[in-house]
Amino acid sequence: MYKSEYLNRIYESVVKKCPGEKEFINAVEEFLDSMEYLVKVDPSIEKNAILERLVVPERVFQFRVPWMGDDGKIHVNTGYRVQFNSAIGPFKGGIRLDESVNLSIIKFLGFEQIFKNSLTGLPMGGGKGGSDFSPIGKSDNEVMRFCQAFMTELFHFIGPDTDVPAGDLGCGAREIGYLYGMYKKLTKEHTGVLTGKGLSFGGSLARTEATGFGLAYFTSEMLKTYKNDSFKGKKVIVSGCGNVAKHAALKVHELGATVVAMSNIQGYFYDENGLDVYAIKEISDRTINIIEEYTKLYPNTKSGENKHDIWKIKCDIAMPCATQNEINLDDAKELVKNGCMILAEGANMPTELDAIRYLMKNGVIFSPGKASNAGGVAVSGLEMTQNAEHLSWTFEEVDNKLKDIMKSIFNLCYETAKKFNEPENLSLGANVAGFLKVKDAIIREGLV
Ligand code: GLU
Repeated sequence: MYKSEYLNRIYESVVKKCPGEKEFINAVEEFLDSMEYLVKVDPSIEKNAILERLVVPERVFQFRVPWMGDDGKIHVNTGYRVQFNSAIGPFKGGIRLDESVNLSIIKFLGFEQIFKNSLTGLPMGGGKGGSDFSPIGKSDNEVMRFCQAFMTELFHFIGPDTDVPAGDLGCGAREIGYLYGMYKKLTKEHTGVLTGKGLSFGGSLARTEATGFGLAYFTSEMLKTYKNDSFKGKKVIVSGCGNVAKHAALKVHELGATVVAMSNIQGYFYDENGLDVYAIKEISDRTINIIEEYTKLYPNTKSGENKHDIWKIKCDIAMPCATQNEINLDDAKELVKNGCMILAEGANMPTELDAIRYLMKNGVIFSPGKASNAGGVAVSGLEMTQNAEHLSWTFEEVDNKLKDIMKSIFNLCYETAKKFNEPENLSLGANVAGFLKVKDAIIREGLV
């Protein structure tokens, strides 16, 4: 499958060792694609068994999370923390709370996080955690009891200089608060062990907005560099309605674009003349019945249940910000047919591999989540710095640093891709640039 015998060996070993872990295997496959040239010109990679060491997590924890429902019934979920690679800094990555969560998904996300965190330029290793518990439909008290039970296990493995979890799908400010409270009680320590905390107990301004805003800043750089253009007058689809999507929608609107369609678990909704992104933010902050509430406000809004249909709507820029595998090959064909010129991922791996290949082959410039959604973890890194300094910075200070980081991630990916004579291949740029720093650290730290 690969030209390099070494890459084939790595890929086969992962398939053999991780049967059924399709998300993780996909992530490794996509990454190895970008290593083809590098392993040929740099023998130190194979000599030091860098790829062998990269595809195996340093540590994996799996634990039982028993909690009691409001009705007095006992529920049991499974908790995970995958500490994937700490070559360049303490493990860092979110906690996903969703029914779909399994070891494969947490490993895929943790693997991606290694390169994403490296690209930010901040000293953060890669990790990820989560549980097959979904907060949707649970009461506040149930969510609290779950988070407390989860932390009574997780606290053994984490620490401000060891492993610093944060939010992800299903794990927002409320969950981080409950997790942090229990960590503090168990350890008697008020440290920056989680990021995305509330502003009253060590959180950073602009952390909530960071992933969505960062995605918009990154995409602005793409527009400027590749098209000598900006968001002004562009039609944009932002899938999702969660934290990433709503802030991306707000920022691209502020930069002059029209957001024509968005979606949530119930389906998608659109208005060719533009959605009211402020109303969407206000509604989605208080309820999950977004489509119902929004169409009450704007009765001319169209909607549909099949989320794939959102990609049939005409747009210049597509920003998938919901979850993994939301764009398949057929969706990619629709986007190309309708003249979409840029696809920038806000979620983690929302585009399937054959769809990415099709988009790139057909002139759509593609940016992988590990580059374009790195703004969230970047501001998490800034939250860690503020906690260590016992200081908090202003919104403007953090937002300006975020802008600089997104610009430098774009430049790093672009310049790296250019060296391979593939200036539009940001996946290649992101994988190689993210990898090189980690590789250097692994070699210098010796065989550990
Ligand atoms: N879950 C986010 C991500 O996928 C943020 C992680 C963090 O802030 O540590 O990058």
